[in-house]
Amino acid sequence: MNSLKILTVRGIDIRLHPTFPLILLWAGLQFGLAGGSWASAVFGVLAVTALFVLVTLHELGHSFAAQHYGVPVKQIVLTPIGGVAQLDHIPEKPIQEFVIAIAGPAVNFMIAIMMGMAVWGFGIEISNPLFALSIGGLSWAALFSYVFVYNIFLALFNLLPAFPMDGGRVLRALLAMRLDYVRATDIAAAIGRGLAVLMGIYGLFNGGIFLVLIAVFIFTGAAQEAHMVRLRGTLRGYRVHQAFSPSVYRLTPYSNLQQAVNLMLSSGQSNFPVCQGDELVGFVSQPQLMMALRTRGPHTWVNMIMQRNVQPVSPLADLYEVQQRLDREGVDALPVVSGDGRFLGIITRQNMNDLRRLVTVAPNSLPKVQSA
Ligand SMILES: [Zn+2]
Repeated sequence: MNSLKILTVRGIDIRLHPTFPLILLWAGLQFGLAGGSWASAVFGVLAVTALFVLVTLHELGHSFAAQHYGVPVKQIVLTPIGGVAQLDHIPEKPIQEFVIAIAGPAVNFMIAIMMGMAVWGFGIEISNPLFALSIGGLSWAALFSYVFVYNIFLALFNLLPAFPMDGGRVLRALLAMRLDYVRATDIAAAIGRGLAVLMGIYGLFNGGIFLVLIAVFIFTGAAQEAHMVRLRGTLRGYRVHQAFSPSVYRLTPYSNLQQAVNLMLSSGQSNFPVCQGDELVGFVSQPQLMMALRTRGPHTWVNMIMQRNVQPVSPLADLYEVQQRLDREGVDALPVVSGDGRFLGIITRQNMNDLRRLVTVAPNSLPKVQSA
């Protein structure tokens, strides 16, 4: 099932996950049963809709900050348990990560201030929203109170200093201003795990099953982030020429797709440089090849389907940066071209995994090039 696009803001699609209506149903049911009337069911649906408007604004805060730093934002997806802004990548510059992470909760604080001013200016009464619900059911004052309280809760909860919450990123960014990125992540992740354990224990002894679930979510989130960053970090300081594959099969612009497929099947190579002599003129990845085979047939020339504008990497490029580029562009391989324009080979995810495995078991087998 596809998610439903409801709005586009600054090029960012805001979408509802197919399971999203479940939360509205749940809200109607919960509030309806608690209040004992249709009016309270309607109140529940309105209240939860308002909460998701807050969540969307929060995610837009992250998104606009990301766009400010040139990070593309694909979409914001709303699911029953919250919203996610899908950023192309999280910048490693601490100040940028800090601003992007804090921008979400900052939006909630701004809304809180505005609502506070409305309370002060128009004399709106803030009551305990659950109390308001139990006596009156549907009322604007109760809805206002509900949004007011939840909005502050949303900001504070997201600022918990634990991955994958915004507070975890804020903490890591602050630490990374002084420390190495991997070290900063390790410390932030350890604090997150500690917090999760305390939260879990508290939840267990007080019967808060929801709190225990959140604790598990935070604990695994922190571990994942630390693992991922450490994994990426192992590549730093190694260069492309230490890991790439120089002897690869090449296609010419006038090879046809059948020849490409035969090569793929016989060699196991899945990404092909297209060369004229020693000059790289294009690149064909496996998904491109498969797609072209289906839509155009096996006798098509490679130059009809190859990617011409692929930016090659230098043999001196840092593998860590190359890895980031692969992740960002969602590809498995890139061509390697020397400074004087000669095609040298390709660098693949497989190459990098091999190098990572090698230096994990035998750290001294390959010298690191100290980067500036
Ligand atoms: Zn956030």
